[in-house]
Amino acid sequence: MFERRKTRTVEVGNVKMGSGHPVVIQSMTKTDTADAALTAGQIRLLEKAGCEIVRLSVKDMRSAEAVEDIKKETTIPMVADIHFDHKLALEAIRRGADKIRINPGNMQKEQDVAEVIDAAKEKKIPIRVGINSGSLLEKVTGKTATADAMVASLVKYLEYFRKRDFNDIVVSLKASDVKTTVEAYRKASDECDYPFHLGVTAAGPPRDGVVRSSVGIGTLLMEGIGDTIRVSLTGDPVEEVDTAKRILSSTGSRRFGPDVISCPTCGRCQVDLISLVEELEKRLSADTGADLTIAVMGCEVNGPGEAKAADIGIAFGKGKGAIFKQGKIVKTVDASCAIDELLAMIGKEQEREL
Ligand code: SF4
Repeated sequence: MFERRKTRTVEVGNVKMGSGHPVVIQSMTKTDTADAALTAGQIRLLEKAGCEIVRLSVKDMRSAEAVEDIKKETTIPMVADIHFDHKLALEAIRRGADKIRINPGNMQKEQDVAEVIDAAKEKKIPIRVGINSGSLLEKVTGKTATADAMVASLVKYLEYFRKRDFNDIVVSLKASDVKTTVEAYRKASDECDYPFHLGVTAAGPPRDGVVRSSVGIGTLLMEGIGDTIRVSLTGDPVEEVDTAKRILSSTGSRRFGPDVISCPTCGRCQVDLISLVEELEKRLSADTGADLTIAVMGCEVNGPGEAKAADIGIAFGKGKGAIFKQGKIVKTVDASCAIDELLAMIGKEQEREL
């Protein structure tokens, strides 16, 4: 397991964030925040999917005021996303936001930032300094949005916070290209010990966005960088949460139930492996929340070997499947009832672990 970058701990509502705590999943609502009922409904869907902190865009005073009503209808901590007008941040804080996100490029006047810092300090809530390559602090950058410019923007902006002795900070440095994003986080990790919120901004529609986010966020997590993640997709926010869980699971950062590994199949496979794996995945989520790694292989060429790394596995032959436990055959079954048999074995294994 990789070593996490050491950070301070920041509390967002009842969720602790930082190197001593699991990497937190975030998403963002896509409703008009001023419509409190609609927004609260979307938050509940996100929470059910596994979202642990939700961000809302606060674009006007009606949205800031709605924070209070939304909070009454939901349970996960809420982050108010503010651009341009610091008074919206002050109102969102007053209405009970658990965290504020501000963008140095869009809130540049030190006096305005100071008022937000003081209000957050009084309410004991954190602020995310959300650097975005599309809107950097003019004083230090001026020109192109390189990783160096993003980090220079961060360092300069953090001075406003240090002057007021405020350290309840989370940092993000998002660009829409993966390389700049990864470079910016790597460079910034030498500049401060605040928890990092990871994401690739404007990652795109789901097919591209999932890949870009997985590469960017995954690379950083594998280097021990990152304390909370948000996958940005032009699509259903529930899909953002699902992708975030898969990234955390694939990088070994967290587990959310069973991991199924399966071969891609080839000419050696003599069963309909795609259907069998689909059936297994459906029935695993419906029937059991096993914390196991399960291998499903199309033939015995690599089957037993791959299954050694799994808790349980099955390798198919012609009309038959050999079930393995830690690489040893425990049973040979008919392919037609292979998934039933495998699930029964998984159930027994779970009972044994309890
Ligand atoms: Fe092909 Fe067998 Fe490998 Fe699956 S396990 S890809 S069927 S050789």
